[in-house]
Amino acid sequence: MWYRELLSWYGENKRDLPWRSERPDPYHVWVSEIMLQQTRVEAVKDHYRRFIKAFPDVRALAGADTDAVLKYWEGLGYYSRARNLKAGAGQVMEEYGGQIPNSAAELKKIKGIGEYTACAIASIAFGEKCAAIDGNLLRIFARLTAYKENIRTQKARQEAERYFLGQMPENGLPGVYGDMNQALMDLGAEICVPVRQENGPDCGRCPLAGSCRAYGTGTERSLPVIPEKKSRRIQELTVFVIRDNDRFVLRQRPGKGLLAGLYEFPNVEGFADRKEALHCIEELGFSPVRIMELPEAVHQFTHVEWRMKGYAVWVDDLSPAKAGENGCFAATAGEISEKYSIPSAFGAYRPSTW
Ligand code: SF4
Repeated sequence: MWYRELLSWYGENKRDLPWRSERPDPYHVWVSEIMLQQTRVEAVKDHYRRFIKAFPDVRALAGADTDAVLKYWEGLGYYSRARNLKAGAGQVMEEYGGQIPNSAAELKKIKGIGEYTACAIASIAFGEKCAAIDGNLLRIFARLTAYKENIRTQKARQEAERYFLGQMPENGLPGVYGDMNQALMDLGAEICVPVRQENGPDCGRCPLAGSCRAYGTGTERSLPVIPEKKSRRIQELTVFVIRDNDRFVLRQRPGKGLLAGLYEFPNVEGFADRKEALHCIEELGFSPVRIMELPEAVHQFTHVEWRMKGYAVWVDDLSPAKAGENGCFAATAGEISEKYSIPSAFGAYRPSTW
């Protein structure tokens, strides 16, 4: 068992993160873990601080306006996480009397909390012996045990869980299981990193090098085994930033599907040339007076890649009657930055960028 080496390394090297404390709060751990899914720690820190200031506890989040929650999520992407977090807070208020449940088994019943997040909250905030298996832990597991099979399978996940639980002491002191999970998260983020990141695993600085089969056999750079990803579907779009002197046209996306319910600049599928673009603007009910081409942009989602071209189009009238057609409405730049969540996919077309 190598937990002593790991914990002693963690004691000296743990990352200073705003959600970590001597007495971890389950709500803080929950929010941070949801934010950290598919998002870099550096990008999460400020968002986390602002979010906790605006919604300091489960009750505040459950009672908040969804648009306000999404606004505080802006820039983190994957907005369904924010919707589920808010729905989960509502569930805690209704079904658990406002108390976040203290076991992984019960936490998994809450909307948006999966296996990993349940174990992270249960171990860090409530001291449960539980291994929070994410991509970092799977990579560390594959290297420590020289696991030669695909790690993106349920079987690998179960084997990793069994392995890490086997490394945790029985009847550990308070905080030991949460610290082990956090230490492994830090190890995966700073030392046992993927081959493509920085220079790959830094085994010379690793507290577990003495127990690592991959390091012992010089195979750390060829593990873990991950099947190649399917390529993303390419979708072409033309984005219209329709404006008068100080207002811009927005519209709300459908309630289901990609970026559900968020706000966007009107857009059409395919690349439109100037003439086609002007035609589209007229179809939306506006009379263009000037058009300017904007830079092209690319945004990658998990399964789709958007390739976008854009036009800024000045129109003669954004009166409420006209702007209300086609689900469109007008908002000032100030209102856009304070009130409406525009996904980062449209970041290149925000008025402040051109
Ligand atoms: S010795 Fe190297 S490969 Fe093994 S766990 Fe440490 S960093 Fe990862």
